[in-house]
Amino acid sequence: MRAKMIAGNWKMNSGAAAAADFVEKLETWFADSPEGRQAASAVREGRVEIVIAPPFTSIASAHAAKKSDLINIAAQNIHHRQKGAFTGEISLPMIEEAGCRYVIIGHSERRHVFKETNEDLEKKLIAALESRVLPIFCIGELLEERESGDTKRVLASQLESAWRSLTSDVVAEMVVIAYEPVWAIGTGKTASDADAEEACDYIRTLACDKFGIAASDSLRILYGGSVKPENSGSLLSQKNIDGLLIGGASLEVESFEKIIETSL
Ligand code: PEP
Repeated sequence: MRAKMIAGNWKMNSGAAAAADFVEKLETWFADSPEGRQAASAVREGRVEIVIAPPFTSIASAHAAKKSDLINIAAQNIHHRQKGAFTGEISLPMIEEAGCRYVIIGHSERRHVFKETNEDLEKKLIAALESRVLPIFCIGELLEERESGDTKRVLASQLESAWRSLTSDVVAEMVVIAYEPVWAIGTGKTASDADAEEACDYIRTLACDKFGIAASDSLRILYGGSVKPENSGSLLSQKNIDGLLIGGASLEVESFEKIIETSL
């Protein structure tokens, strides 16, 4: 059974105090409300995993506000080198020390706004795996690529260049893929359940062709793009969707909690 992952990507929102407040409220919900206690049991039993990705300067305060192991923290990006003369960059040892278990790599804003290439992202993916920080690796097509029927070709090429040197065991145990169609991110236009499932099914088929059935059965594949409490349950009920990467709707703790509830 693949644990459902509910992951919030805060982007450049929520400073240190707001991050601590969010974590405190979520911990209180886990401890004090019937829905929260049900969610906490699902996490403890390995059925659900909760991740938040605050901006770098909020990671330490989010981590310090934790009262349990129910919440995992992710960084939104990293540099592939461990240290050195890279002004403005943050390394894997730094995010680990600050309390991160996961790192988001290749978010569409990194690819398209900051022009990170497939080659850059392969280096980051390998560096994260070597540091044993678990990558949430994002892929997804632009609107024009979808409209010209190129979605599968884009997904295959983004994946192939990233995971060409990985082994089946690593893919099975450490990698999470997030399918995020770029046209659905922050636009309010969610992919239909069927379109999201088709893409995630295709990703699993690619994993099976390259790494075998056991690895592809274990690989977790998330959907992201304008997820909210109203559509999260039906997305999560799709066979190949193992969780959600949520931007806007993860910023308010109440809406994040409602999305967690739909995973139970
Ligand atoms: C994201 O940032 O990964 C994302 C999916 O954003 P939103 O949910 O706001 O579309």
